[in-house]
Amino acid sequence: MALYITDECINCDVCEPECPNDAIYQGEIIYQIDWKLCTECVGHFETSQCVEVCPVDCIPIDPSHIESQDDLLLKYRMLIKKR
Ligand code: SF4
Ligand code: SF4
Repeated sequence: MALYITDECINCDVCEPECPNDAIYQGEIIYQIDWKLCTECVGHFETSQCVEVCPVDCIPIDPSHIESQDDLLLKYRMLIKKR
């Protein structure tokens, strides 16, 4: 599953540089995650790096983009091929 950022985000900018897939960007009001690029850090790290660093705990799983671990691994492989 991809993750998303809720409106509790305080725009602290801590998560953005931690994302190995460059999936996090500054939106119009708060930071956002491009779900097409988020692998929940599968392939890079054991845990979601943005969730680890977020001081206000505002990065839950996105229920509208449900993906299995296998889907996420496939997504990871597709993303590294494009680099
Ligand atoms: Fe990036 Fe990982 Fe957070 Fe997804 S879970 S946005 S890949 S840091
Ligand atoms: Fe927003 Fe959390 Fe990212 Fe800070 S770490 S910009 S509060 S989502």
